[in-house]
Amino acid sequence: MNRKESEQAYRDYVKQHVVDVQAVWAALQPLCTGEAYMPEAYAFAINAQIECHDGSKLGMNEFEGYRQWFYPAVQEMKIKADFDLAWNHHQKHNPHHWQYWIMWQPDESKVLPMPFCYIIEMLCDWGGMSVKFGDSPTQFYDKNKDTMLLHGTTKQTIGFWLRYVECAVAKVKAARAGKRT
Ligand SMILES: [Zn+2]
Repeated sequence: MNRKESEQAYRDYVKQHVVDVQAVWAALQPLCTGEAYMPEAYAFAINAQIECHDGSKLGMNEFEGYRQWFYPAVQEMKIKADFDLAWNHHQKHNPHHWQYWIMWQPDESKVLPMPFCYIIEMLCDWGGMSVKFGDSPTQFYDKNKDTMLLHGTTKQTIGFWLRYVECAVAKVKAARAGKRT
């Protein structure tokens, strides 16, 4: 893979991830009835967010750091420091990452509650990864929650919505497998 092919491979990966996240969100919306009713204004806001999900990954501050780390061109040396800078930029500029809501303080950093619309985008993000890697968002959460710094209300919201996102992911997987849902 030469440099140009590496750039293309990385760009394709980001595009596919965005398609997957959008598919999970599209499958989630019809499930939002009854106790899971989502006010239209929220759905509208999430639509807008997910439309440009992970857009910063294609920008100046992230593209190269991610590309060389995940899709190095032939004989290219991977540079961890560049990946760290890209990932740090990503989590500090994208409110759908829980790390965005950690406020640094000299004694102990403070965990702020995540606004609802960003929690849903985060769950659709996990869902998109599940579509790609085959696990479920609940498995991902159970495996990683001990290392996440989450506010109590954020945990509650995740706990409630995870089962709906789980259903949405199952629908996307089934549709891709060509089965009827
Ligand atoms: Zn992201």
